[in-house]
Amino acid sequence: MTQARGHAIVIGAGVAGLLAARVLTDTFDRVTLVERDELTANETARRGVAQAWHLHGLLDRGRRIMEQLYPGFTGEAVADGATVTEVLVGTRWYIGGARLAAGSTGLTSVIATRSLLETVLRRRTLELRGIELLTRTTVRGLVGDAQRVRAVTVSGPAGPQTLTADLVVDASGRGSRITQWLTEIGAEAPAEARLDVDLGYASRFFRHRPGQLGGQASVIVSTGANGRGGGAVRVEGDRWHVTLAGMLGDHPPTDDAGLGDYAASLSAPDIHTIVVGSEPLGEAVPYRFRTAVRRRFDRQSAHPAGLVVLGDAQCAFNPLYAQGMTVAALQAVALRDCLAATDTDLPARFYAGAADAVALAWQLAAGSDLRHRGVEGRRTLRTRLTNVFVGRVQRVSHRDPRVARAFLRVAHLVDPPAALTAPGTLRRILLS
Ligand SMILES: Cc1cc2nc3c(=O)[nH]c(=O)nc-3n(C[C@H](O)[C@H](O)[C@H](O)COP(=O)(O)OP(=O)(O)OC[C@H]3O[C@@H](n4cnc5c(N)ncnc54)[C@H](O)[C@@H]3O)c2cc1C
Repeated sequence: MTQARGHAIVIGAGVAGLLAARVLTDTFDRVTLVERDELTANETARRGVAQAWHLHGLLDRGRRIMEQLYPGFTGEAVADGATVTEVLVGTRWYIGGARLAAGSTGLTSVIATRSLLETVLRRRTLELRGIELLTRTTVRGLVGDAQRVRAVTVSGPAGPQTLTADLVVDASGRGSRITQWLTEIGAEAPAEARLDVDLGYASRFFRHRPGQLGGQASVIVSTGANGRGGGAVRVEGDRWHVTLAGMLGDHPPTDDAGLGDYAASLSAPDIHTIVVGSEPLGEAVPYRFRTAVRRRFDRQSAHPAGLVVLGDAQCAFNPLYAQGMTVAALQAVALRDCLAATDTDLPARFYAGAADAVALAWQLAAGSDLRHRGVEGRRTLRTRLTNVFVGRVQRVSHRDPRVARAFLRVAHLVDPPAALTAPGTLRRILLS
């Protein structure tokens, strides 16, 4: 049994912060979640997570981890209104201009808004022993030096304060000030890898009618050669949540006619049929995501003790690939495993432990982005060969459900990419 470790502070009560708080309660006496926003149940989105207006797919690897950390998570989401179905059985996916062959994938899809998922995680986390949540409280900086972080400074309803901690976890999202905070205490800031995708989203809710989409719960149209894609998912409240997306500045408009025309330009008609055939609920909401950013803490030779950074604050992925919540879950598991071992060199061990998961997700997303000529970045021979192979996998997936299954299990981070080169699968990919 591991020894209790005192007090941990988690900056940000988003998905990554909640998952981090959950694993910290295994070994810390007290865990304080510090959150800038006021939190109310079932808000569609709040200021700190404006992305919650937009479609959030939960990869099955992430769901499985959440189920492990919070037994009964999937059932609780369903009780709150989520739909659960099997990927490619109750859902459809178009990629490369055609539909993936339907069939069993063994992957579970929990279809809900991001706020429903976050509400379940928050409820379960706040039930844990030793947890405290401070809302309307903003972390302003770190207290410490290059050797150790000892506290954070905050401002909130009780005025400015310093909160001491044995461990500080930054889970404050893609807008994290961690680079500035580290510099202020004389510690080294990490190098950053960046990929400019200039992605634009527009999302709107519509009333769902029985029988639409052949009774299926979601359709995803991956960005085709024109860089446009989207999704329509049947979420709680018997609504369609529709998101349209375009890369490299070709962003969807938010007016009725523009949204409909943009949906009509996708490589499959299903989303357009839903948009023009359903009653809109509220206005369309835009979002602009310019750059995917990976902060390379794993490459630093020294870290201040008492601080780790996870979630989007460490790596903010292009959201098209729905990886962010799942990578946050994988990082939480890496943190749990490091804490279960020893206290020595926690940050270095954590960044090394999380690096494989982050690197794989980054590589899958960047590889896909680099298929678009307009995305600037180095295309190594390996990237180009991988993209040729992935293109072939996708084409075969249109007619072979077993290859579609293998492909989606890799995309859901459930199976490693090597599963696609297992002899039986590779034969089907190359010879079919
Ligand atoms: C448009 C869009 C669509 C996405 N779609 C998907 C998807 O389909 N699937 C998927 O898995 N992921 C998706 N993501 C990514 C996903 O939202 C995040 O990866 C995931 O929520 C983990 O983020 P996080 O918890 O690190 O940060 P966030 O969710 O951004 O949470 C950060 C929290 O910190 C708080 N905070 C910020 N600064 C401070 C401070 N100084 N003091 C106190 N509190 C602070 C904020 O209020 C917020 O609550 C999408 C992202 C975007 C932008």
